Amino acid sequence: METLSTIAAARRRREADRREGRTVAFVPTMGFLHEGHLALVRRARKLGEAVWVSIFVNPTQFGPGEDFERYPRDLERDAALLEVEGVDVLFAPTVEEMYPTKPVVQVGFSGLDAVLCGASRPGHFAGVGLVVARLFNIVEPHVAVFGQKDAQQALLIRRLVEDLSFPVRIEVAPTVREPDGLAMSSRNAYLSPEERAAAPVLYRALRAARAAILAGERDPLAVEALLRGRVESEPLARLDYAACVDRQSLKRPERIDGPVLLALAAHLGSTRLIDNIPVDPPLEASP
Ligand code: AMP
Repeated sequence: METLSTIAAARRRREADRREGRTVAFVPTMGFLHEGHLALVRRARKLGEAVWVSIFVNPTQFGPGEDFERYPRDLERDAALLEVEGVDVLFAPTVEEMYPTKPVVQVGFSGLDAVLCGASRPGHFAGVGLVVARLFNIVEPHVAVFGQKDAQQALLIRRLVEDLSFPVRIEVAPTVREPDGLAMSSRNAYLSPEERAAAPVLYRALRAARAAILAGERDPLAVEALLRGRVESEPLARLDYAACVDRQSLKRPERIDGPVLLALAAHLGSTRLIDNIPVDPPLEASP
């Protein structure tokens, strides 16, 4: 595996891949890798002849007072894990390399970035959009793999690629979970033992809400109330949002009669966790 830290070196290596006719599959990350990231890498391995992974803790997607400084980092360990997965290129630039000047271009998503996580983290998706656009222009992948864990991000990246006509196929891989259901996340490292024990409440709430829909519940407000009640029954959890929304518009439907996304965010102590599951309600029997 080649580890590159400059854009110039990445472009040279990309040129070599092009000359030799290799398709490139790309997995952008912020590092401190876990099995969720590695599942994306394994998917990328199947999709491209050269697998590129980036590790960059992107300051522009963190708000003031968020955890940019304390975000966990361990490049050496990450590189060793990626080596084992047969990754070809690790691109790990510094902040100065990625942002030599303060960007003036802003990526907006017409309100799709102002709901769910975007409502609690103003500016977050503008930062994500900018860094992903920049990474796509450096790596020029044929295909890029994202995780369902960040469902809103995956949707916005699809829209970015569609609206700006990036020649990149977007693949979304399922959420990888701990045995007790907690979605894997680099931020799980922040949890105290008590918070860690309480954290699976998010997934349990999502499953209960899915079961209600599959049993016939069609009122999104009732589903959201169920989600909220389950999370709030855990004393260590402080709910940020509980949502039952259309998978494309991210708006709450009048009635659940098509595919929805159940999404949750909650604080456990100082750690903000998110999780979601897509649900396809069974077709109602015609009268
Ligand atoms: P991050 O390093 O948190 O920015 O995540 C990098 C990529 O890994 C994103 O596309 C995430 O959606 C994805 N990802 C993070 N956690 C998981 C997980 N538990 N399962 C699947 N994908 C994940």
